Amino acid sequence: MYFNNTNDFFHGIMFHHFHDDKLHTRGQGSISQDDFYKLINFIGKKNILNADIFFEKLRKKKLKKNEVCLTFDDAIKCQIDIALPVLEDLNIKSFFFVYTSMFSDKPDNLEIFRYFRMNYFKNVEEFYESFYENVNENLENFFRHYKNEMEYKKIKSPHYSIDDIKFRFVRDLFLEKEKYEKLMFSLMKEKDFNPDEFYKKLFFSKQDLQDLDKLGHLIGLHSHNHPTLFEKLNYDQQKEEYKKTQQIISKILNKSPNEIKWMSHPNGSYNPETLEILNNLGIELGFKQIMKIEPEKGMKKINNSSLEIARENHSSIIKRMNK
Ligand SMILES: [Zn+2]
Repeated sequence: MYFNNTNDFFHGIMFHHFHDDKLHTRGQGSISQDDFYKLINFIGKKNILNADIFFEKLRKKKLKKNEVCLTFDDAIKCQIDIALPVLEDLNIKSFFFVYTSMFSDKPDNLEIFRYFRMNYFKNVEEFYESFYENVNENLENFFRHYKNEMEYKKIKSPHYSIDDIKFRFVRDLFLEKEKYEKLMFSLMKEKDFNPDEFYKKLFFSKQDLQDLDKLGHLIGLHSHNHPTLFEKLNYDQQKEEYKKTQQIISKILNKSPNEIKWMSHPNGSYNPETLEILNNLGIELGFKQIMKIEPEKGMKKINNSSLEIARENHSSIIKRMNK
């Protein structure tokens, strides 16, 4: 049994990647269809609310401690191919939080890079090796400078290894987006990987969004470009990210923008301005992705506000199942 009254109070379970024996290869943090069934069983189906019921109960402040919902981030196709059949089989309606640059002519490369990293190297260590070769800088001072922040990140995201965290710091703070993308594209060229073939296979299509909506799942916001550190954007940039994505989603679903009232924070990153912007856009439910109190964000408790509902990562739950 997962729940107890001391430290396991959370309301969302967060899923990203699923693998099968076909297109969707096993990768860091991915789970199989079988694992997914087992996890639902472990949580207990009676504890899992449909997304619309979850939302109504939250609104009325009637959520019980053991009531959770399932959430899927990033509009990754494996969720449609592997997880959706399970949801339909068990009749569980969930939240899908999608970023929308993939529906424009300038899709974000996050998922492409991940696929490349997972499939064109023997393991993640080999990828990191090539990556640092290409960065070709002495990073000792950089790592020393960010030592405390990296340690804090490890506490917040225990499912990442130290190397994963170092990589993310170099990507986001040393290289930053433009240089990082340039480097990745040159690595992909070296390995003869052509990203164009993969957009369709790895991401949701507009049709997928419409189908999910018809089935009764709720589609929510997750920014337009999925910035790696949302909290570093200024007010206008943040506002543009959420306004734009709310408009795109509502247009695809043929709804009015203010009907989309739920979101999750990309990489769990936000600041007080983000919450104000979301409020102004009529968002009433927001998920973050860690089970820790972050005082620097003004948090006083877990599930600090209806825009900061905690979620547990599926891989942490699986680890406990297997204990
Ligand atoms: Zn995300």
